[in-house]
Amino acid sequence: MAIYNPASLDPNEFINEGEILATLEYAEANKNNIELIDSILQKARPVKNGNAYTCKGLNHREASVLLACDIPEKVEEIYKIAEEIKQAYYGNRIVIFAPLYLSNYCVNGCVYCPYHLKNKHIARKKLTQEEVKAEVIALQDMGHKRLAIEAGEDPKNNPIEYILECINTIYSVKHKNGAIRRVNVNIAATTVENYRKLKEAGIGTYILFQETYHKESYLKLHPTGPKHDYDYHTTAMDRAMEGGIDDVGLGVLFGLELYKYEFAGLLMHAEHLEAAHGVGPHTISVPRVKRADDIDPDAFDNGISDETFAKITACIRLAVPYTGIIISTRETEATRSKLLRLGVSQVSGGSRTSVGGYTTEERPHDTEQFDVSDQRTLDEVVKWLMDNGHIPSFCTACYREGRTGDRFMSLCKSGQIINCCHPNALMTLSEYLEDYASADTKAVGYKVIETELERITNFKVKEIAIQNIADIRASNRRDFRF
Ligand code: SAM
Repeated sequence: MAIYNPASLDPNEFINEGEILATLEYAEANKNNIELIDSILQKARPVKNGNAYTCKGLNHREASVLLACDIPEKVEEIYKIAEEIKQAYYGNRIVIFAPLYLSNYCVNGCVYCPYHLKNKHIARKKLTQEEVKAEVIALQDMGHKRLAIEAGEDPKNNPIEYILECINTIYSVKHKNGAIRRVNVNIAATTVENYRKLKEAGIGTYILFQETYHKESYLKLHPTGPKHDYDYHTTAMDRAMEGGIDDVGLGVLFGLELYKYEFAGLLMHAEHLEAAHGVGPHTISVPRVKRADDIDPDAFDNGISDETFAKITACIRLAVPYTGIIISTRETEATRSKLLRLGVSQVSGGSRTSVGGYTTEERPHDTEQFDVSDQRTLDEVVKWLMDNGHIPSFCTACYREGRTGDRFMSLCKSGQIINCCHPNALMTLSEYLEDYASADTKAVGYKVIETELERITNFKVKEIAIQNIADIRASNRRDFRF
């Protein structure tokens, strides 16, 4: 039997079933242990040190106790601390991105995904480079600067050369004042050599959802195709890091398995990356299974309520304070509003989940991966964020300045984000307001910028930010960054 070892490169040791089961037992036994819960909450609280905050985070056992706890006052405290951590590290900024579907050809048999090989009636489509260009122009015209590219796994139709060519095309499109400045990549597990090629192509984060950490379920949910190989899939991030990618994004598809099991597995994966590679995940995504072409989410027994979903998100915030949390348009406006307070730092906006979806007037459904619940335009999402006290950020500076992996984490930990990410958010918001926003959004946006500039503590940084924003408003000069 495999023994738990977070630093091991054997997936059965770092996502160790025995350790997950022992964790669940420990959490259940202690879910009413007030003394222990209070000490865990105390450990999770951000501590102020001059301008900076320090957070210890929680290990998978501690965080699992909080997730199991149903005492209303304690749950409220979890939410409160999640909000404090979010404010301490990310302030009120929310980074915005959009998915871009390149191809829905897929050779896998994932039972929750309509792109599975046996689905013979779904239209199959793969974008040509001309079509990629047209999609990117449409995304730029909305105001997007950051994309997550998505593709099914199909070595013949979507080989790595195709993905690399698309990345190259995306970065090359310069339309009006627009540019895509960061391409994150969500493609199937691959080789170290291919990860190296992705790194060389200038990708931001490599994202791969584990879907489920329950090995036995994983094998059933992925009955055929290369994704059936649990060990290969689970060690993808190790190969990505070996290939030089140090920003990786984890995720679980909630609804497939018991959420407490997934939660422990997810945190153990994060701990493994830290133990084996010295840097934890850059982001964690929390998708829930959605209705799609031939997929009925009710066919899966482990759907979670909105309340449980909120608690999971807040507990992730407490456990891994420096990791971004992403919530997509799979969720409704109401759910997204609630989760934004509990530690989410990135949202998608104006998304279409079909191949070629951005260049058609009507939302196409024939090649769609899943139903989008939040169907508002990007302009509506931007205004909604500001109306709710957030700063929408189109910033992509960190990775372009080499602040990835542990360098990003140390920026976070030093408290210098207020003099770096904060002005960058305001400058990129100003670009958005000048080039793409409706009159209403623009008026609200400049009020937000005026107030927020006052919060920059470094006098020199503040002066430069004010000057750059004046330049953005008066000219076509763009892409200022700290
Ligand atoms: N093909 C790649 C892979 O194998 O990981 C990733 C791309 S896939 C387009 C992105 C993610 O969509 C999957 O990892 C899965 O978690 C999610 N997904 C698939 N079907 C879904 C559904 N019905 N509802 C919600 N999310 C779904």
